[in-house]
Amino acid sequence: MSNHATAQLQTSPVRHDWSADEVQALFELPFNDLLFKAQSVHRQHFNPNEVQVSTLLSIKTGACPEDCKYCPQSAHYDTGLEKQRLLEVEAVLAKAKQAKEAGSTRFCMGAAWKHPTDRDMPYVLDMVKGVKEMGLETCMTLGMLKEDQAEQLAEAGLDYYNHNLDTSPEFYDKIITTRTYQDRLDTLGHVRDAGMKICSGGILGMGETANDRIGLLCQLANLPKQPESVPINMLVKVEGTPLEEVEDLDPLEFIRNIAVARIMMPKSHVRLSAGREQMSDELQSMAFFAGANSIFYGECLLTTPNPETHRDLQLFKRLGINVEQRIESSDEQQEQQIAKDLQAQQDDKLFYQA
Ligand code: SF4
Repeated sequence: MSNHATAQLQTSPVRHDWSADEVQALFELPFNDLLFKAQSVHRQHFNPNEVQVSTLLSIKTGACPEDCKYCPQSAHYDTGLEKQRLLEVEAVLAKAKQAKEAGSTRFCMGAAWKHPTDRDMPYVLDMVKGVKEMGLETCMTLGMLKEDQAEQLAEAGLDYYNHNLDTSPEFYDKIITTRTYQDRLDTLGHVRDAGMKICSGGILGMGETANDRIGLLCQLANLPKQPESVPINMLVKVEGTPLEEVEDLDPLEFIRNIAVARIMMPKSHVRLSAGREQMSDELQSMAFFAGANSIFYGECLLTTPNPETHRDLQLFKRLGINVEQRIESSDEQQEQQIAKDLQAQQDDKLFYQA
């Protein structure tokens, strides 16, 4: 193997000691240098032509007691959203079956709760068991969790728990006042202690500063173990929420955030999440190049519109992207496979040999 290809295969370590200054230096790189760096890191841990696909279903919609200023489901704002009580287990399983048939490998179930109650738990646990039995990976987002609730979910077979940090600790109370940043970190701790994987990220374009975006990425990357999945959302401005008039974030700044997240969290799936509906195919393609390798798929991204399923498939086809299949192997096996794939690509003369 040439030195060039060998250099491609040296893996960048996962670090938990990122300082704000270092991250700022990444953001200040010329755009092309940043994207090249991110793509190089991406290739060390992932097949660059695969994207993981999840489907998200809202299992309980609206009337949430929390006051997250971006959220149409908060009972604090009048957004005209149709509320829905907790769905029946059978209805959820039917949707999961459809998602599997449409090519999803992970099924995420979201409930607009401050936290699940003891009365809700048996239903939620049955949903996890049923979806798991179909051979799908399972993910839930139910608000804050107590230690024993996290244990019950893990025991039922829940693979991932989604709980976003949303933004930096400094900007946080401008967005949510009904639960603290520490509450969120505590829930993430319980999820980890119960042995589940974490899906945690944030929302950009809520009027935060560049330093807040750096702060969010430092919080995520410096967790004792980095989240396996990191959703980076672009705010969807919903009429009736306090953020409906907030200024747009420059789309290139959004791409920079994806690239920096990829570099800081080299083994995590970086998920292009809410806000995709408003993005052009070209912007999404740039996000994939910057290291995003996970999307939500299907017609419903909780209560905000998601690009029609077929538009995603067409884009994947144009980009030569395949849907990532479930990975049951260890990190080492996965990396060995990627090394083999890269070697095969090099043999196909996809790399220019200087
Ligand atoms: S983001 Fe979640 S917790 Fe916050 S208001 Fe919306 S549903 Fe409730």
